[in-house]
Amino acid sequence: MVDELSRIDTNWLRRFRSALRRWHAHGGRDLPWRNCRDPYKVWISEVMLQQTTVAAVKPYFERFLKRFPNVAALAAANEADVLRLWEGLGYYSRGRNLRKAAQVIVANGGEFPETMDELLPLPGIGRYTAGAIVSFAFDRPAPILEANTLRLYSRLLGFRDDPRSTAGQRVLWSFAEKLVPTKSPGEFNQALMDLGATVCTPTEPRCDACPVAACCRALAEQAQAEIPLPARRPEITETREAYVAIESSGRYLIYRRPEGQRWAGLWDFPRFELPSLAKTRQFLEQQIAADFGPRVSISERLTQIKHSVTRFRITLDCWRAEAIGNHELITKHSTAWVKPSQFARYPFSTTGRQFAECLSRSVSDP
Ligand code: SF4
Repeated sequence: MVDELSRIDTNWLRRFRSALRRWHAHGGRDLPWRNCRDPYKVWISEVMLQQTTVAAVKPYFERFLKRFPNVAALAAANEADVLRLWEGLGYYSRGRNLRKAAQVIVANGGEFPETMDELLPLPGIGRYTAGAIVSFAFDRPAPILEANTLRLYSRLLGFRDDPRSTAGQRVLWSFAEKLVPTKSPGEFNQALMDLGATVCTPTEPRCDACPVAACCRALAEQAQAEIPLPARRPEITETREAYVAIESSGRYLIYRRPEGQRWAGLWDFPRFELPSLAKTRQFLEQQIAADFGPRVSISERLTQIKHSVTRFRITLDCWRAEAIGNHELITKHSTAWVKPSQFARYPFSTTGRQFAECLSRSVSDP
């Protein structure tokens, strides 16, 4: 840690900051949440951008702001309405935490918190998000470290160890603290992120067009391709799962996924992991009776969806079944029997929505 950071002296900082500011006066990105001093909008955009690309976030950001224009509106929202707007963006705990944090802010008087100490205890707000809000919205010095700056800082320092390890994070956060100036820190932090996103890119960084090339250790060592160390890829596990659309009088059984499960708070069709040697129909009929109550007869396989969740590559067979006789529900879940025309009211997981659309195409409402 000492080695890399000891090279960062006052002279280096002065050269780096002025080169970056000159470049950013002409080279920054034009984003819908840019030049915005509204902490609510900064917060929403930064949470949406975690693990998600700018292009994917833009339409979600606009729809979300239209529906929930301020903290009070978000605090008063139903969780299902928030998740319906979040549908397809993934990492749904982000949307649920936004609403919870809005409720805390409103309960504390409704003023948006302005300091790291006030922001960090809120649900879903980590060090980066708090730093972004404090610097972008309130223009106060606060360090930032996210995917683009992690790569940029690692190269500037020539940091060859794992930047995601605890020790690596300590080095990079210390560097971020040194970097951030007292004058216009918000604009400066945005310039760092823009440089990482547009010039110091993951592959083939544009070093010949880089405004801070003279300050870059990786370039001096011709080590841009090796820095930062890539994240370790988890081993892929193939699994088979099954959806069952259980039908009774033209309505289908859906349930709200409980806390602690994937896609908590979203609605879904009964879904099961298939043991490798199971007789699928028999297994599903038994599982449905055990988990939900009704006796069912599995009829046809409607479609197959292939998708990935973290390290799991999932082949998901989608079945239709009919409820037989008395189909009283014994499940502990929140459930509903809904017509295909009502599917749009519920927030579904991405695969749940795909299956709902498949069902809507294959049947007509009673
Ligand atoms: Fe990144 Fe190249 Fe600039 Fe160094 S010189 S910061 S590697 S773009």
